[in-house]
Amino acid sequence: MPTPGPMPTPTPGALRTVDEHLAGCLAAVDVLAPVDVALADALDLLLAEPVRSALDLPRFDNSAMDGYAVRLADVAGAAPGTPVALPVRGDVAAGAAAVPPLAAGTAVRIMTGAPLPSGTEAVVPVEWTDARTDTVTITRAPDPGQFLRHAGEDVRDGEEVLAAGIRLAPRHLALLAAVGRATVSVHPRPRVVVISSGSELTPAGEPLPPGHIHDSNGPGLVAAARDLGSPARHAGIVADDADAVRAALADAAAHADLVVTSGGVSAGAYDTVKAVLRDLGGVTFTKVAMQPGMPQGFGTLAAPDGRAVPVFTLPGNPVSSLVSFEVFVRPVLRRLAGEATLHRPAVPAVAGASWSSPAGRRQFVRATLAPGPDGGPPVAMPVGGQGSHLVADLAAADCLVVVPDAVTAVAAGSPVTCLPLERGRR
Ligand code: AMP
Ligand code: MG
Repeated sequence: MPTPGPMPTPTPGALRTVDEHLAGCLAAVDVLAPVDVALADALDLLLAEPVRSALDLPRFDNSAMDGYAVRLADVAGAAPGTPVALPVRGDVAAGAAAVPPLAAGTAVRIMTGAPLPSGTEAVVPVEWTDARTDTVTITRAPDPGQFLRHAGEDVRDGEEVLAAGIRLAPRHLALLAAVGRATVSVHPRPRVVVISSGSELTPAGEPLPPGHIHDSNGPGLVAAARDLGSPARHAGIVADDADAVRAALADAAAHADLVVTSGGVSAGAYDTVKAVLRDLGGVTFTKVAMQPGMPQGFGTLAAPDGRAVPVFTLPGNPVSSLVSFEVFVRPVLRRLAGEATLHRPAVPAVAGASWSSPAGRRQFVRATLAPGPDGGPPVAMPVGGQGSHLVADLAAADCLVVVPDAVTAVAAGSPVTCLPLERGRR
């Protein structure tokens, strides 16, 4: 359970840097408490406990092949020119509970994974025989112990098989099942609830009344959270009405580990999210020195069960909202999920064009990354215009170029740092 602390109070009117705002958000959250989940729900989650096996693997001595259990002396010298014939005294299938002992001078037919008859010194694969069930003729002698699997050769009872902190891949889940675990303790991914605020918003798929636009932030932000593996849900569109916003926030907090709103937090007359949260308290509204995404809010909502649920109020412009998610929400979600790496790896590139950047603000420029000429660093080419409403340009970009706060001009060919917007939860 996160126990968010208070946000540092910004100097009134002052811009906070991106780093200051992000540090405040990260300091307010902690990894969610571990939960037990069924193996089927554990893929890609971080293991919260070291796992020890409560049994030997293999559990019992068994055959590695379909064939015949034999004693070495009985098959010594078996070859195509000097075959050995042995009477078959028994048949052991995988899963057999009662296993006949192997008497000298006989063979027992045995299947892969079946328990070994006592006295077995090797298994002759069926391919080295005539496969008969009355008397078997063997044309090749096995080595001592060949095709036998021994109890505990893979895992010893009590041995640690997985260390806490690993990301559960399919192979780890197979091992957990093999040692008998049906559930496992993991760090859960934060449940995210997204609220789209704005009286002008209509869901995609419905006709647009005059003056309306389709809500694109809702689907975009839900997908951004799901891309990190979070179970994210869109709570829907809330009009710029204080009662409706209050109710939506309360409901979201009850069902979320993190709430994200978009819209209604700038300086307009109907910026209701801001007005409501100012009344409720717990959220700090800040101007962050960045472009796009200057108006930011972060704090906590009181859930009915007493939890303080972190809430981000992101600006409504579609580019601002998704860039803000990248810069602030993504690292916080990763911290809640117990991830060690909070940030996307930065990639060095060269600017494919010249552009200007506002003084004293960190600029996040939508761009595409292309391989550089002659094996040089990749080239970051800004995409179209940089207005915060240009969703098609945003969709065309596959990276953000991060221009440092103090830089006011980027020259074509100069080195830049990019954040590739790669999909996925790693
Ligand atoms: P606001 O932050 O509410 O002042 O909104 C800024 C701009 O973003 C306005 O042009 C809004 O119409 C637009 N906007 C707000 N919310 C959304 C949304 N969910 N989807 C698309 N555009 C939005
Ligand atoms: Mg609005």
